[in-house]
Amino acid sequence: MANGRAPAAKVSCDACYFRQNMLCALTDEVPCASFRPNRPEGLRPPSQLRFTFRQERRMQVAWAFPSPSEQVALHA
Ligand code: SF4
Repeated sequence: MANGRAPAAKVSCDACYFRQNMLCALTDEVPCASFRPNRPEGLRPPSQLRFTFRQERRMQVAWAFPSPSEQVALHA
């Protein structure tokens, strides 16, 4: 069943950063959840989402008392 994702690349312990740097303590040859690709720049943390502040909401008040002219219009 297609889920819309690209098929995952096959990973192996030989391509893992921890194995390449002799930091893996596991003896199995099966990749585990700690797999990180061995890149020249080393380990990189996963990219974080950026904060996007909604300026238009910060400039508006959620609620305010009606102005005198609005009160007059409401009760006229
Ligand atoms: S950390 Fe996991 S994926 Fe990496 S070499 Fe060790 S067992 Fe394999």
